[in-house]
Parts: sequence; structure tokens; C-alpha cells
Amino acid sequence: MATKKRKVDSECRAFNYEWTWKYFFTVVKDKPVCLICNEAVAVFKEYNISRHFTSKHKNSNYEAMSEHERKQNVESLCKKLSGRQNFFKKVNTIQEAATHASYIVAYNIVKNNKALSDGEFVKQCMLQVCDVLCPDKKNNFQTVSLSRKTVTSRIEAIDKNLTSQLESKIGQFKFCSIAMNESTDINDTAQLVLFIRGVDENFEITEN
Ligand SMILES: [Zn+2]
Repeated sequence: MATKKRKVDSECRAFNYEWTWKYFFTVVKDKPVCLICNEAVAVFKEYNISRHFTSKHKNSNYEAMSEHERKQNVESLCKKLSGRQNFFKKVNTIQEAATHASYIVAYNIVKNNKALSDGEFVKQCMLQVCDVLCPDKKNNFQTVSLSRKTVTSRIEAIDKNLTSQLESKIGQFKFCSIAMNESTDINDTAQLVLFIRGVDENFEITEN
């Protein structure tokens, strides 16, 4: 009984390549996906896959096709799908790079004591320079968000990250010393400056 169950299970998980032209299905990220409407089916079962085709694409051009026509169409549908996948991959990497870029600008703004709203000015300059140097890349620069709100949240994230890095280092200190200094900034607001210097068990010195 147990062996029979296992056999059924393994049959369900395998994709039969006949299903590509029979039902216009392919495999994307370990899931059977319909090449016509891009809908995924939960299991690798011929019953579920054929049911999708016969119910959702009933009376479609695809249903009326001969085996030869189906095979030809499957090829071009697969090409279209992989083109779309590449497009999304590209969009994702551009978005990641744009986020990275906005972190770089935010970091420079805070490091040089510039106003948080200066990000908008930087972006304006970037876009104008881009017009001259690489107008075909303008869209990429446009996706770099440098509004005051974004710059603020980037700086908060950087601050959080640096704090947790410092905290984990302080936790390893064997000895440390602290120096404090109070001064006022240009707005006459009191600022407390804290310097910490410590050494861990490997005699590695950290100063911050
Ligand atoms: Zn479909």
C-alpha cells in the first residue's frame, strides 16, 4: 500500500513535456504555468492541467489547432514568455540599483551636513547632466528617488544599521573609554558629542 502511494506521488510531481503542446503548459519556478494566460496550476497533474486548458481556453484558436500547429505555436509562446521574464529581471535590477543610488546620495548629504531637501537639487542636476551625457539612460536616473521623505528614511535606515554595528562591537569590548563634549550648532541647539574607544579580546581597537 505504501509503495503504491509513493508511486502516485512521484508521478504527480513530474512535468510531462507532452503537456506543452497538448495543453500549452510549461514550467516556471517549479510550477506548471499556462502559456496562453500565464496562470499557474497548483499541481503537476495531467487532470488539473488539461482541465485548465479545456475550461479556460474552450473554443479558442488554440483548441482548434492540429498537433503540428500547436507545436509551432508553443515555440513562439515560450519565446514570448522568456522575453517577458528577462524584461522583469531587468526592471528589478534597475530598481535595486536605483535604491542603492539613493542611499549613496543620502549618505553624502548627511555626511556633509547638507539639508535633507538637497536630494531634490542633486536629482535635478543629475537629470540635466544626463541629458547631455547619456540621454538614453534618463529613465534610470528618473527612478532614483531623492525626495526629502526618501532621503530622511534612507538616513534613518543607515543610522539604525550603524548603531547596531556599533552595539555589537561594544558588546565585545574588554576595556573602553568615553569622551564627551558639548557644543552648540549653528541654530544654537546644544549638541552632545560622544567618542568611544575600546579594545576587544583580540586587541582590535575601535574608535567612534
Ligand atoms: Zn490558461
